[in-house]
Amino acid sequence: MSTPATSAEIPGIPVMPEVNQHLVSPAEPVSARVVATRLCTASRKAAGFVRHVEIDVSGTPLEGAWRAGQSFGVVPPGTDAKGKPHKLRLYSIASPTRGEDGSGKILATTVKRSIDEHWDDHRLFLGVCSNYLCDLQEGDTVHLTGPAGKRFLVPQNPGDHDYVFIATGTGIAPFRGMIGDLAAAGYTGNATLIMGTPYRTDLLYDAELRTMEREHEWFTYRTAISRETTADQPRPMYVQDRLEADAEQLVPLLTSERTLIYICGIAGMELGILRALWTMLPPHARGQYLSIAEDVPADPALWDRRMIPRQIKPTKRVMMEVY
Ligand SMILES: Cc1cc2nc3c(=O)[nH]c(=O)nc-3n(C[C@H](O)[C@H](O)[C@H](O)COP(=O)(O)OP(=O)(O)OC[C@H]3O[C@@H](n4cnc5c(N)ncnc54)[C@H](O)[C@@H]3O)c2cc1C
Repeated sequence: MSTPATSAEIPGIPVMPEVNQHLVSPAEPVSARVVATRLCTASRKAAGFVRHVEIDVSGTPLEGAWRAGQSFGVVPPGTDAKGKPHKLRLYSIASPTRGEDGSGKILATTVKRSIDEHWDDHRLFLGVCSNYLCDLQEGDTVHLTGPAGKRFLVPQNPGDHDYVFIATGTGIAPFRGMIGDLAAAGYTGNATLIMGTPYRTDLLYDAELRTMEREHEWFTYRTAISRETTADQPRPMYVQDRLEADAEQLVPLLTSERTLIYICGIAGMELGILRALWTMLPPHARGQYLSIAEDVPADPALWDRRMIPRQIKPTKRVMMEVY
């Protein structure tokens, strides 16, 4: 397999803005107040419970200090099975850089209740922090840290690039913020969002994103529903299937030197996406996004997730945040 150009030779590498990081440490989290909480699935009948939670950080070092795409930490109260204080969990900021309020005082996140059977006795296991966050009521106090993250950002000059955002589940959170930032900056390029969920009922911020698409010519919103068919999707699809199905529109965008790819959501989603990119792109454009080691099989179907990122290395034009 031919080795593509090194990152240094690839055009279109983004210049990311300088951002604040770790202004508030886990040793001294700040107190903030929940000001709104609502389900953000397309229907109450969704398979999971996902909440849009808004938190007022005014008067703390977090006020006006984050950028869309960054995360913040939540320190849940109480102790773990060993009697140690619970560790913080990270949550993506779902707000644009100016916040929900327009002045950086209120940030939002998109939290999915983590629900499982206990490993030991198969009783109901509720993930500690997601359920704590989803249980919080308006007016409750929550302890926060952050902000965190310096690469999963919209570049310093957003207009220099086009964007393909690919989300599964709560991976939509940072893209909601970034698309808000593009709109606020008067962006006129091309940004396509592909959102994947198991069922239509699980789509997050669906009505809001459809409105954005109607109002902004530069924005395209596409969905990939993996466990059912829909009127405009005659077969179930994962996000990588949507990429390939929309190749006619996406290949010209992806072969452009302006385009950046952002991937956020369920750990493991990246393998299918990287395979699809390799398959759908003409050979000369593949190296813009992927650098493949000599010992990697030529057939992407034989690629393995463990080959990422050492043997299958995304270039600096691919931003990935999976958890
Ligand atoms: C950069 C980043 C951004 C993130 N952004 C978001 C976001 O925007 N929204 C979001 O919802 N999440 C996000 N996460 C994930 C989040 O940080 C948490 O990992 C997630 O909410 C689960 O935390 P929890 O405390 O509820 O679950 P935990 O208590 O930590 O448990 C996690 C999982 O482990 C398993 N588990 C643990 N113990 C047991 C047991 N005894 N028996 C059976 N199963 C068990 C369960 O499957 C459980 O769901 C992000 C993570 C990162 C790294």
